[in-house]
Amino acid sequence: MTSKRDYYEVLGVPRNASADQIKDTYRKLAMQYHPDRNKSPGAEEKFKEISEAYAVLSDSEKRRQYDTLGHAGFDQRYTQEDIFRGADFESIFRDLGGGFGSSDIFSFLFGRGNVEERPTRGQDLGYDLEITLEEAARGVEKEIEVPRTEKCDICNGTGAAPGTWPKTCSKCGGVGQVQRIQKNGFAMFMQVTPCPDCRGRGKIIDSPCKECRGTGLRRKKRRITIKVPLGIDDGFQLRLRGQGETPPGGGDPGDLYALIHIAPHRQFRRNGDDLLYNLTIGFPQAALGTEMLIPTLEGNVKAKIPAGTQPQQIIKLKGKGMPRLRGYGKGDLLIRVNMAVPENLTNRQKSLLEELAKELGQNIR
Ligand SMILES: [Zn+2]
Ligand SMILES: [Zn+2]
Repeated sequence: MTSKRDYYEVLGVPRNASADQIKDTYRKLAMQYHPDRNKSPGAEEKFKEISEAYAVLSDSEKRRQYDTLGHAGFDQRYTQEDIFRGADFESIFRDLGGGFGSSDIFSFLFGRGNVEERPTRGQDLGYDLEITLEEAARGVEKEIEVPRTEKCDICNGTGAAPGTWPKTCSKCGGVGQVQRIQKNGFAMFMQVTPCPDCRGRGKIIDSPCKECRGTGLRRKKRRITIKVPLGIDDGFQLRLRGQGETPPGGGDPGDLYALIHIAPHRQFRRNGDDLLYNLTIGFPQAALGTEMLIPTLEGNVKAKIPAGTQPQQIIKLKGKGMPRLRGYGKGDLLIRVNMAVPENLTNRQKSLLEELAKELGQNIR
């Protein structure tokens, strides 16, 4: 009935080939026929064939049985999955960058059927975290409260009432899946479906936990401390590994992403690592030059306004901006100078200005 080719013939090695010889031969053939590299028709079938031959001949026990029983007898004892189980593909494919294990190559070669994947990782959660500009400049630790799904602590996530235990499903042996191998001419198909008895959970619960109604999960508000690094900017996301939702059936929790919002500041506008500060001075100050007290995130500093400063001119205070997020030093504080034009002048102020205008040759009326 079986019309498979002889494994030695498939690899093209003699029946007394050494383990090293078999491995070397397979490596060469695998590089040649790997479906990621070889797109010609038939390459994939060929790759399956050599991989199966290698899985058997590289395992001394399977090889001995194959030598004694021949194809027909061997195939009766081993399923396709058994053939690949435990075979060393890792060292072969490490160079290809794939990192295939024996179960990986099995699913790669034979697919996973149309089985509904059980979630093995919980959903990620998002959280909007608002901080002040001062906090962004110094770095800050924030304690937040996040509602999320966690393992039920009454039943410790088992879903079974305290004092009882979930039973391993006898139909699927706790795997949660049942599989059938179908032969169709030369081809073999493995069909995998969720176990109908335990609905894919692998466990059967006779008396469910009352707290979580057998789900093993509970909604909880959890306090989490978020470390916000100094220099962070608006719109950044901080990832907190494992602080997301716990999936049903118990797998790894997802992650929590904290989206940073920086509240508007009453004095500064931020532009990357720089801070912008609007300063308004009078015309005589701009003309003659002066010294002003300028606020920074670390208190006031004196800044020199040179004589002849023009409206909208930028005066830079080096290193008085935001710390750089990943790196050293700080940005700058940019002072933008605005000019105030005096209103409601006294008679004396008027006459002084008129005199100045005359002196500068500027026409008033
Ligand atoms: Zn419970
Ligand atoms: Zn089952």
